[in-house]
Amino acid sequence: MKKSLSRIASNVKASSTITIDALFKKMKAEGQDVIGFGTGEPDFNTPDHIKQAGIDAIGKNQTRYTPAAGTLELRQAICDAAKKDYGLKYAPTQVVVSCGAKHTISQLMMILCNPGDEVILPSPYWVSYPEMISMAGAVPVVVEGLEENGFLITPEQLAKAITPKTKAVIFNSPSNPTGMIYKREDLKALCDICVKEGIYIVSDEVYDKLVYDGISFTSIPALGEEIKELAILVNAVSKTYCMTGWRIGWACANAEIAKIMSAYQSHSASAPASMSQAAALEAIKGDQSGIEKMRKEFEGRRDFFVKRVSEIEGISCCKPEGAFYIMLNVNALMGRTISGRAINSSDAFAETLLEKQGVAVVPCEGFGSPGYVRMSYAASMENISKGLDRIEAFIKG
Ligand SMILES: *Cc1c(COP(=O)(O)O)cnc(C)c1O
Repeated sequence: MKKSLSRIASNVKASSTITIDALFKKMKAEGQDVIGFGTGEPDFNTPDHIKQAGIDAIGKNQTRYTPAAGTLELRQAICDAAKKDYGLKYAPTQVVVSCGAKHTISQLMMILCNPGDEVILPSPYWVSYPEMISMAGAVPVVVEGLEENGFLITPEQLAKAITPKTKAVIFNSPSNPTGMIYKREDLKALCDICVKEGIYIVSDEVYDKLVYDGISFTSIPALGEEIKELAILVNAVSKTYCMTGWRIGWACANAEIAKIMSAYQSHSASAPASMSQAAALEAIKGDQSGIEKMRKEFEGRRDFFVKRVSEIEGISCCKPEGAFYIMLNVNALMGRTISGRAINSSDAFAETLLEKQGVAVVPCEGFGSPGYVRMSYAASMENISKGLDRIEAFIKG
């Protein structure tokens, strides 16, 4: 008789997108004509000057442990960029570099939460948040962002969800999966409630550079000193610089939290990879022109996508303002029979669509939003066009 595994082992779920993804990969390997809209990363390569900085670091034997919180040069560059972009004043001792934003947030949950604490999570949310909260022994309290409110939560909703056990709230604007952005005054109203209640604000700002329609992005800690004291700003090179595989993200926080995060990380990861940190340094300090090129390309794809969706009967979407995802509302199709299959969930829609038309989308049950599927436009214009033609043909039956 073996002893049972831990509380975490019995609760941790593999990503809800895994069935569709496995089927997509199998069909692709068999040489079938499939189009994927599931990707959660830019379809562009890491710019050459950034790759070279990583290669140079290896050549110069920068292959040893760095300080647990990351090299001083990188932390200084992160501070300089936060100052330049948003007027934020952080010292390098307030910055902790980790192995991606996901790593940052999961370590943060361990530091902020005691078992039984509550973390408020606006939905639709990124799939990993509830898992990270649960692994820390805390409880996700979902507050529903309604489509008619642009998938954003209101201050009234937030205030109602707070209990004496509430420890933190997680904001992600621009959002994965909705692409929606909180306006400055709405964010201020939400964060003022957190200040009043002494609740920590985790702000996942990994899509801060991918905003459209001339919208100016508001970084949460820039809303005021009291908010900044409670806010933990999370960002990464992953999306901005097409560096998802390099695994570099960071937190900017008050000195107390940063010091604990650094100590925690020193025992869990030691430090993020040294050559990746060197590449991230070049990304943040070097030529920034690649970002605007990518942003423009995504904006053009989004415009095409939204227009095409509006022409197809049975599906609809909010026009996303940032990131590279669209939440497709498929509620009108629920209860219909398509290609001989009863479509009674977004899971069934996604599975049947992939089997019949070779188009992979992500059902949003795992994002807290049944009746929706997420599509990423980190795909070529040609594939977006072809994919939407196939969805139209699929719905027409
Ligand atoms: C992609 C993504 C991240 C980035 O995670 P990394 O660990 O840096 O790759 C963080 N948050 C959200 C919402 C994302 O979509």
